Amino acid sequence: MNSYGNIVDFVRETYLEPEAFIPLHEPRFIGNERKYLNECIDTNFVSSVGEFVSRFEKLCADFTGARYAVAAMNGTAALHMALLINGVERGDEVITQSLTFIATANAISYTGAHPVFLDVDRDTMGLSPKAVEAWLKQNAEMRASKSNQQSTDSSKLSAFNKFTNRRIAACVPMHTFGHPVYLEELVRVLDQYNIPLIEDAAESLGSYTGDRHTGTIGRCGILSFNGNKVITTGGGGMILTNDESLAKMAKHLTTQAKVPHRWEFRHDFVGYNYRLTNLAAALGCAQIESLDYLLQLKRDLAAKYKAFFINTPWQFFSEREGTRSNYWLNVILASDRHERDEILQYTNDHGVMTRPIWELMTDMPMFEYCQKDELKNSRWLADRVVNLPSSAVVKGDEKMV
Ligand SMILES: *Cc1c(COP(=O)(O)O)cnc(C)c1O
Repeated sequence: MNSYGNIVDFVRETYLEPEAFIPLHEPRFIGNERKYLNECIDTNFVSSVGEFVSRFEKLCADFTGARYAVAAMNGTAALHMALLINGVERGDEVITQSLTFIATANAISYTGAHPVFLDVDRDTMGLSPKAVEAWLKQNAEMRASKSNQQSTDSSKLSAFNKFTNRRIAACVPMHTFGHPVYLEELVRVLDQYNIPLIEDAAESLGSYTGDRHTGTIGRCGILSFNGNKVITTGGGGMILTNDESLAKMAKHLTTQAKVPHRWEFRHDFVGYNYRLTNLAAALGCAQIESLDYLLQLKRDLAAKYKAFFINTPWQFFSEREGTRSNYWLNVILASDRHERDEILQYTNDHGVMTRPIWELMTDMPMFEYCQKDELKNSRWLADRVVNLPSSAVVKGDEKMV
């Protein structure tokens, strides 16, 4: 048996699955999921009105330490909304990383803004503050801003790209697979240019930098509760912010911008039907009750992987000092793209689901003409990352709920 066989054997032993297919990440329903869903049906509150939505918002705010949390139908919609309420407009530029899931770039595109794709750090897999600083030094200058309704301080200068004459309206780092980017360093750079930070924390529920939860450091952050994330609502998302006016605007725009009235239909913006349903929120309320436990199980799994891979040629990707990762998806690094492909081939052939990281956004037809930097680390990682099965390992009887 070759050494890839050892990986397969180890994963099978860890999940106590000698034969069955082992998925990359599956949800665990081990608490009140059925009970809360039945309550929705019994009370007839299945749609966008119902007490589970506000309860889930409150639970997410409490868990992350954000002052406000506003539910949305999915993480992509939540990110679109976060960009809009921070004043990102058609024709602006938004800095993000090229090595990310497509949703980050799509949400930026929905606003009509132009994404700018910069490099990541090798030890976070997320947006590199050094890359952002270098790009801004070369391209940005401060000018008096035109319109930005959301800006409270109209005397503030805004960063503009001196070559394209576009405003640089936001920066969206993504905490890849739950590993926080260098947030303090990034904030320091962005503050020099008055660029708002919006965190794509879709993958990092339960991840911290110091004692601060990811997604709560920027003006806004977003979470995702898609089926493959740490906890799920089937599909769902959340906008996090400490700013009351932003939270109110998020709630307003996600509910068709309807002016509250007992019977009149009046709307004061082009709004969106981005609400989360009560059914989805009910699932979320039950899931978040299990979150601490699931996070502990995921840390236990990561520790097992780490111990196993010490005795192999492959490096296990560990949380950076000063941060705490949720280890949403565990990562090893192959020595090159060829070996990565061999690992993917062997494990998937043997019923153990593994995946590469995403192709770079700048290699997709929609984004290939966008601005970018050299993307050295992004390419280096894209050649090497392999994601391993990462579902929380629950006891057999818990699975039967
Ligand atoms: C999951 C995810 C999202 C949001 O996805 P939805 O499926 O719309 O909830 C956004 N960004 C990243 C990086 C993600 O992984």
